[in-house]
Amino acid sequence: MGEVTAPPSGCLTDAQLAELHAAPPGQAPEALARHLATCERCQARALFGAQRASGPKKPPPEFPSLRRTFFYALLVLVAMAAFFWSLAKLSGQLH
Ligand SMILES: [Zn+2]
Repeated sequence: MGEVTAPPSGCLTDAQLAELHAAPPGQAPEALARHLATCERCQARALFGAQRASGPKKPPPEFPSLRRTFFYALLVLVAMAAFFWSLAKLSGQLH
């Protein structure tokens, strides 16, 4: 049983895509290459994987600074106050 087994969905696994990338042109496992040639989803994955591998790693998103957090909290509070003020006014509790 030396055959390459495809996942149940028929699409290549990440390991199989990596295998295709590592193989020199023309020497990729035929079953994998044939699937890649006919499957748009795996082509996109192969391209996306190649881009991710060669490009610089994206740094994780930074947390906002404390001052910025307070600023946004204040904005939310002001917006809420305005909302409740207009709600009270609309319901006739303010004159
Ligand atoms: Zn596929």
